[in-house]
This record gives sequence, structure tokens and C-alpha cells, in this order.
Amino acid sequence: MKRDLYLVIDIGGTKILLVLFDEDGNIIGRKKLRTPEKPLPEVLVNFILDSVSEMEHELQTVFLNSIKAVGICFAGFVEFRQKIVHQAPNLGWQEPVPFADLLEKKLKCPVIIENDASAAVLGEVYYGAARGHHDVIYITLSTGIGGGLFLNGQLYRGSSGFAGEIGHTKLFGKDRICSCGGENCLETWASGSGIAKSASELWEPGDLNYEEFTTANVFAEAAAGNQPAELIVKEAIKAVGIGLSNLLNILNPSCLVIGGGIINAHPELLAELDIIIRCKAIRPVVEISSLKVLQAELGADSGIWGIYALLKGQD
Ligand SMILES: [Zn+2]
Repeated sequence: MKRDLYLVIDIGGTKILLVLFDEDGNIIGRKKLRTPEKPLPEVLVNFILDSVSEMEHELQTVFLNSIKAVGICFAGFVEFRQKIVHQAPNLGWQEPVPFADLLEKKLKCPVIIENDASAAVLGEVYYGAARGHHDVIYITLSTGIGGGLFLNGQLYRGSSGFAGEIGHTKLFGKDRICSCGGENCLETWASGSGIAKSASELWEPGDLNYEEFTTANVFAEAAAGNQPAELIVKEAIKAVGIGLSNLLNILNPSCLVIGGGIINAHPELLAELDIIIRCKAIRPVVEISSLKVLQAELGADSGIWGIYALLKGQD
């Protein structure tokens, strides 16, 4: 019997994840690949087609004909309704790209696209930490800082799809240009790349035996008691807490979900963030609303599950 399959793809600056679902939500195939060196849109379309063929070969099944729909999430400014990626800085895309149309022509099945954090909030609402909540903020703390909003029981995209960009709220610190083209956005100071930049401004290459300062070695130094490194991390978390407090005061969710590489590697930061938020946000939004501050349950797969929910028409 022919079964409907759904292909979900998470396209990041360093890796591309393809996950094949059946109609009951079982994962029947999974492939993680390195993002091509120069990921121009046409290059990525061909890369996806090749990867799908490989999956087909590996799974020993002719599934291309059975794929009912494909959904993709990107880190970037994505217009869901018009199916356009307006900017994806970590892919080097600064001009609008009709990526879904490009892929649809080749795959001959419907393709949807969504921002990765918007997808992630849906994943956490339907399958993860935020189940049962109607008003949820999701943020990802990783190389950048992304945000997704689920309000009044549905994904909130804003007028054109760009809502929830907490990483580009202002004004944090001085003299840093953001990948969005703005200045001193939260993510220029408090994301993984912001933390690494703070370290590179403090030390020279070769200091502390590091060729270059990455987020991971700033955290390692902080854990070893290096006080300037501790301060960099502390200031970054404080900035995230302030940014989140502003969002909480504006949106009054019942649940705040935090995901991304930094929190996955350092879950202890959740408690620190919780304290800052409860100090900075107005008391009613945390106390009367019984705000829950939770770590994402689906880890790096929040967006994958959110796209699956979209393909299944859950939102
Ligand atoms: Zn920005």
C-alpha cells in the first residue's frame, strides 16, 4: 500500500539535516550533511536533490513518488506566505530567493519554507516542552539568537513573516555591526558569535593557548575560573535575560522555551536566566501568569518537528 511521506529539511550555515517522516509521525530516514562551501540557491537545490536520491538508495525504497510534501526551515528572514527567503546571512544570501519555487519545479511536490525559530516554537508546542500552552515564546541561543512566537493558540508570524526576531532587538553594548545590517543587536553581544567576539577583543590570538577564541573555549575558560571569561558569559546571559524580560512584558506568555547549542551544552544557564527574568520582568507576567521557563525538549530537532506539524496542517 502506498503511504504518504513528508520530507523535512533544516538548512543551516554549517549543516543540513534531512528527516523523512511517515504520516503517523514515525521517522523513517535521517541524514545529516555538511552545508556546501558556497551555498548558492541553485547549488543547494541540486544538493538536496542528490541527498534525496541517496536517501532513496539507502532506504531501498522508491519513495520519491510517495513524498506528499516537503518543508524547509532556514535561519533567516523568511516570508512563509510568499515562499521567499529575504535574507539568510549564514548562507550568504542577502537578496530575496524564491527557494520553495526553485525546489518545487524539480521535486514536483508542494514545498513550504519557514524561519527555523518559528518552526521550533511549533515543534515544542505540539511535541515538546510547551505542550498544552497557548502562549509561548521560544528562543534559540546558538551562533545567533532566534525567536518564535505562538500566541492565542497559533504561530504568530506578523504581517510578512518576520515576527519574533529577539536577536535583533536593541540596544546592547557599543560599536558592533550585526549580520542584519543594524547595530548592537542583542545577538552581536550575547550569541555564541557575540561571546567569541568579546573574547577576541579582550585577548590576542595565541593568548591562553588558543589560536582563535570560540564560544566553547570562552565557556571552558569561565569554567576553569578565568574571571574575564566568566564576566563575558555573565554579561551575555544578563543581556539575554533583559531581552527576554522585554518580550515577556509585551506578550505575557505562560511558557518560555529556551533551546539552541549554548543551552544544550550548558543547561545550568537556564536557572541563571530564570533568576534574571524574574528580577527584570514585571511581577504579574511571571507570578500571576505562573510563567514556566523550560529547556527545549526536542534539542536540535525542534524545528524539524515544527515543520512536520505545518506539513500535517496542525497550525
Ligand atoms: Zn541584527
